[in-house]
Amino acid sequence: MAGRSIRSFTVLPRLPDRLRPLQTLAYNLWWCWNADAVALFRRVNPDLFEALDHSPIRLLGSTDQSRFEELEHDDGFLAHMDRVAAALDHYLKAPTWYQEHHSGDSAQIAYFSAEFGIHESVPVYSGGLGVLAGDHLKSASDLGLPLMGITLMYREGYFRQYLNVDGWQQERYPENDFFTLPLTPELDAQGAPLVVTVPLPGREVALRVWHIQVGRVPLYLLDANIPQNKPEDRAITSQLYGGDQHTRIQQEIILGIGGIRALRAMNKMPTVCHMNEGHAAFTGLERIRLLIEEEGLDFATAYEAVKAGTCFTTHTPVPAGNDSFPVHMAEQYLGDYAAKLGLDRNALVALGRQHPGNEQEPFGMTVLALKVANVSNGVSKLHGSVSRRMWKELWPELPAGEVPITSITNGVHTQSWLAPEFAQLYDRYLGIQWEERPTDFAIWKRVEQIPDGELWRTHERGRERLVALARARLRAQLKRRGSPPSEVEGADEVLDPDALTIGFARRFATYKRGDLIFRNAERIAALVNSKDRPVQFIFAGKAHPQDRGGKELIQRVVQQSRKPEFRKRVVFIEDYDMSVARYLVQGVDVWLNNPRRPLEASGTSGMKICGNGGLNLSILDGWWVEGYDGDNGWAIGAGEEYTDLAYQDEVESRALLDLIEQDIAPTFYKRDAGGLPREWIRRMKRSIMSLVPVFNTNRMVEQYTERCYVPSHRRAAKLSANHLQGAKELAAWRRRVGSEWGQVRVENIDAPTGEALRVGATFPVKVRVSLGGLRPDEVEVQLCYGVLDALGDIAEPKSLPLESNGATSGSSVLFAGEVPCRASGQFGFGVRVLPKNANLPHLFEPGLVTWG
Ligand SMILES: *Cc1c(COP(=O)(O)O)cnc(C)c1O
Repeated sequence: MAGRSIRSFTVLPRLPDRLRPLQTLAYNLWWCWNADAVALFRRVNPDLFEALDHSPIRLLGSTDQSRFEELEHDDGFLAHMDRVAAALDHYLKAPTWYQEHHSGDSAQIAYFSAEFGIHESVPVYSGGLGVLAGDHLKSASDLGLPLMGITLMYREGYFRQYLNVDGWQQERYPENDFFTLPLTPELDAQGAPLVVTVPLPGREVALRVWHIQVGRVPLYLLDANIPQNKPEDRAITSQLYGGDQHTRIQQEIILGIGGIRALRAMNKMPTVCHMNEGHAAFTGLERIRLLIEEEGLDFATAYEAVKAGTCFTTHTPVPAGNDSFPVHMAEQYLGDYAAKLGLDRNALVALGRQHPGNEQEPFGMTVLALKVANVSNGVSKLHGSVSRRMWKELWPELPAGEVPITSITNGVHTQSWLAPEFAQLYDRYLGIQWEERPTDFAIWKRVEQIPDGELWRTHERGRERLVALARARLRAQLKRRGSPPSEVEGADEVLDPDALTIGFARRFATYKRGDLIFRNAERIAALVNSKDRPVQFIFAGKAHPQDRGGKELIQRVVQQSRKPEFRKRVVFIEDYDMSVARYLVQGVDVWLNNPRRPLEASGTSGMKICGNGGLNLSILDGWWVEGYDGDNGWAIGAGEEYTDLAYQDEVESRALLDLIEQDIAPTFYKRDAGGLPREWIRRMKRSIMSLVPVFNTNRMVEQYTERCYVPSHRRAAKLSANHLQGAKELAAWRRRVGSEWGQVRVENIDAPTGEALRVGATFPVKVRVSLGGLRPDEVEVQLCYGVLDALGDIAEPKSLPLESNGATSGSSVLFAGEVPCRASGQFGFGVRVLPKNANLPHLFEPGLVTWG
């Protein structure tokens, strides 16, 4: 049938009135992290729920009317439904952490991300970045933050994976049926679908706005697939990370510029924008444009006002992984738009470059994001320091250690990843507060009181379920490939529900080294075929469609898994998604993570296993550098970085096998008379108590609130007051400091020399500084001091502001202070001058420093 002649219509389920609450529950994704709500939908029809990606809406749409009539008279079911509905009601009304701590702030936070992984039935995510964003929303809801998520509504989402006979990844893009997603359309004042437009070269592209409710928090999704757009424009929001660079920049224009326009059209202009990765960096430009247009400001002033209310999180420690566009594309797509911001070609391009004059440098989205944000962070301590080194060219005068990029370590939404049996176990032994206060160490310490046998049996249920899933999936995979019936039958004999189970599931990117264990295939074969201590492996993960190297890794793992010596003990589950992830993290004994340090910015899958009693076996990279304490899992190596990669693979694969052979398998199989692995259980408890309260998104979102959102909101509010008086002053100040800075000089440093001092004494320093046209209160003169290392450098400098009493000497100003001598040793010090302004987040933000 020709496309034009198709008319669509929708058939909605006819729910009896008594069952209406099911509809309400299905449209608030709160259900997906509430075990009782999940159980309720499963109860409607377990097989159907399983077959339909655990989608309540599809479930309700596919259930026979006769089944509804049954349920309508099933007292047990009705009581269950009413209990869950009351729990949602209670959740939405309960007082929150944010109300308690920040109710005085009228912040409105918009969190922009190219993907959100909330649940497998809403396929607008590809992997870690999206799942993190989804968990961020869930915790923002738990904590009561005034936060909204913004993303695109991808008609086809990310691809579904299957493997061909050779183990080569194939991609499928099934269309999302919008009517079976928990979407509601946003409407305009007339009740028609809300439409906003964004400029693309030579045309305006129209966007619809959809809404998904995630607990207390809304997620808005922009959709270009509407009739007023040309067919090629309707396709822009088809695929997540699909298409070419043109698709990518168009999607980013829709996300950033369209996102702000949609919020404005809904009368929900944020006071703070958080850009999750550089994809959303155009939000900054659109907010600047609005201020210029509506308040008649110049670019510099609008920039100050917007920057103060913008936060940025970078995720990518590999330069090539950061989104960038050839400059001609930036000009093609943004040239006309930039003119409205008062920017010529060079000024536009400069926003995306570390070295504005370098014509070879492309237009980088991370660079733009770093320039428009007032606080930026990496996603683990190690990644923070890697990012400071990576982007130090943007602050050329600062030492790498002081580049203003901090870190907030990722987490996971605890309840979303816990097996229901574990949630019940914690309810019983920890009390129900663990759900509301997952960051409370004292609550998690009660894990010690859980009887070993109960903890172990609860964990074993997860392993049994995982093995059953792996067998069922393998069977389906073999059938689809047309394997002989004997082989399909054989799927029921792979894996052992009692054997030590090691999981490895993540994106297949070469740096994650998915095939590392097979580097020593004989040793691993001996381990998996051991009579009394068998080890088994379950793999899953997708490779980006254009990543040949990643696809080759998958192929290698799959080909190994088909060899006779591995067939029964190594399984690759196709089509890794949040559902497979839940089975895995709830079922494994050990989670393997062997990236090349420091390329795993944080990693989150290893955090998901902790609450479920799994133990981590990982390279000291990303979050594990902070998580590992010597007793709550295992570290491969000691945090080394290598230049000879083949040598690294050899060393680390051997270290990994040594650990499994000598520690992990023996500990797992050492059972007492009652059949319990007591030492293993002790480690499980250590892991739960030390890791669960830290590596969760409630802690993470609290930190974003305290360090980013609230301070940014306050700074932005201050700069915006009185028709942006503060922003005007700050822009003028920045201009003046920039032009005067060349005159700032340390003229003289006066300090005792040579003599030895005793601990407890003080070391007086006087400095004479020439400030050009700047006032003494516009700078901070600092003493940087600390213990000298073998090379005569100060390893960990401390800084001490020196005071001016207004005294001058000619045209210079005197500053003085005293260094306390708190420890003995060889000390060194230096003097530096930085510009200071109370409206900036910190002294290093302008990137200006003059050393004495
Ligand atoms: C958690 C998760 C990820 C991220 O895992 P990493 O360890 O951070 O690579 C990716 N995909 C899915 C489906 C997940 O659930």
